[in-house]
Amino acid sequence: MKHDTQPLYIDGRYCYTSDTFQTIDPSTNLPLADVCKAGADLVDEAVKRAQSAITAWSRTPPVERSRILLLAATLLREKNDELARIETADTGRPFSETSTVDINTGADVLEFYAHLVAGGGLDGTTIQLRPNAAAHMTKSPLGVCAGIGAWNYPIQIALWKSGPCLAAGNCMVYKPSEFTPLHAIRLAEIYAEAGLPGGVFNVVHGGGDVGAQLVSHPGIAKVSFTGQIMTGSKVASSAAKDMKHVTMELGGKSPCLILPDADLESAVDGAMMANFFSSGQVCTNGTRVFVPQSLRSRFETRLLEKMRNIRAGHLMDLTTNFGPLVSKTHLEKVTGYIRHGMDVDHAELLCGGITANGVRQSQGVDNNGFWVDPTVFTNCTDDMLIARDEIFGPVMCILPYEDSEPDFERKLVSRANSTPTGLAAGIFSRDVAHAQTIINQIEAGINWINTWGQSPAEMSVGGWKMSGLGVENGTKGLESWVQNKSTLLELSGQVGSVFK
Ligand code: NAD
Repeated sequence: MKHDTQPLYIDGRYCYTSDTFQTIDPSTNLPLADVCKAGADLVDEAVKRAQSAITAWSRTPPVERSRILLLAATLLREKNDELARIETADTGRPFSETSTVDINTGADVLEFYAHLVAGGGLDGTTIQLRPNAAAHMTKSPLGVCAGIGAWNYPIQIALWKSGPCLAAGNCMVYKPSEFTPLHAIRLAEIYAEAGLPGGVFNVVHGGGDVGAQLVSHPGIAKVSFTGQIMTGSKVASSAAKDMKHVTMELGGKSPCLILPDADLESAVDGAMMANFFSSGQVCTNGTRVFVPQSLRSRFETRLLEKMRNIRAGHLMDLTTNFGPLVSKTHLEKVTGYIRHGMDVDHAELLCGGITANGVRQSQGVDNNGFWVDPTVFTNCTDDMLIARDEIFGPVMCILPYEDSEPDFERKLVSRANSTPTGLAAGIFSRDVAHAQTIINQIEAGINWINTWGQSPAEMSVGGWKMSGLGVENGTKGLESWVQNKSTLLELSGQVGSVFK
């Protein structure tokens, strides 16, 4: 279905430009909508309008800001299916996913921060230092913040950024990914319907050039970025020139550790969720699956049986649980890695892969779309490219380990940590206390024991090492949207001085 031309949204008004680009339906490779691109003048205009809105919004009592955000969350839930259809069209992720995950998990975060600030989350503290002196510590908003999103969970990312940003009294200029821009104007309209004043949440569209203009704009106080490590590094260095605050939510190559005592069904279910949900386009994917030799044969047999439950198909069919990749560029990247795994790494292909003519198309889907079959390589080694790089597609690497040696766990932890990234990790074992001692040694910010993937609003998420800076969500997530001010109040009438 063709959507209307997507304008920019600045100071509560639509803004159309003559310079446009298209967003494409990944399941068919057909255009979905024309999207207005922001020139440098309009990026500047959006930031200036947000600066004009900041005084009133930051002085609006938290409980009033909270009321608006709670109404926005209610509207999001009411419009769940409409928004999920937009996300499915734009990302290519099945409606069975978008209608149950994306809007819910975004609205949860909005509600979490609305309640947090209304319940005193921005309160300062006063410490009585001496009978005649006190120190006040308060939290202030940062100012106008830039939100720059990736394409995999567009509205969720927009809400995870704008929820705490606005709750803390900041304004935002949001730039969605150029591959998935459709949600942004609907979100701006929902905020407006909930009562958000003009200029508090603005949308500019475009690619990396527009993102770069936003990041380097002197009126921006903070950049909250979600995307690739390479881009994040450019964004962080540009922001550092002006000492702007940053939150970086970047990529990873996370380990999924199956211990010899793991429950086989849970381990297979977890590994599949860690590799094939959203067709593998999840930042926290556990694509390095460490499997003990003692369990490997049974693990692989059960995995192949369960992979029959992966169903590519029409994206609105509720039984479809596997969609295409987001774009042609991304399809080429992922199939390039699969080809490398087969031809250069010489990894053992357990299933999927690509044929000499290209992609082995899943049956019953439009061959013009960006489909790739779920792929499992086994007997992989740590030095293979497919086991080192983030592929961001449905490609699992099974890395067997010898569990008959006495110190196998020490080696396992060392292999799991031998990556420059540290976004997530998961472990499967019947001995939960023991699993926790292993997780304690893993260098990753987001961890799961006997499950994979859930990221509730209450739980802080953020990567270690090259995977990011700072956290989103949870009570800790609010801290990255405020700056602290300390004031010492002397009531004695005596100024301590060495110069009297
Ligand atoms: P990307 O880095 O290509 O693009 C992300 C955003 O940055 C886009 O909006 C893009 O237009 C913009 N951009 C590009 N160049 C820029 C520049 N120089 N300055 C400012 N902005 C610029 O990432 P992607 O391909 O859209 O997303 C996939 C990546 O995102 C994966 O690596 C994935 O792991 C990561 N991701 C991380 C998380 C997390 O929470 N850690 C969540 C989702 C996705």
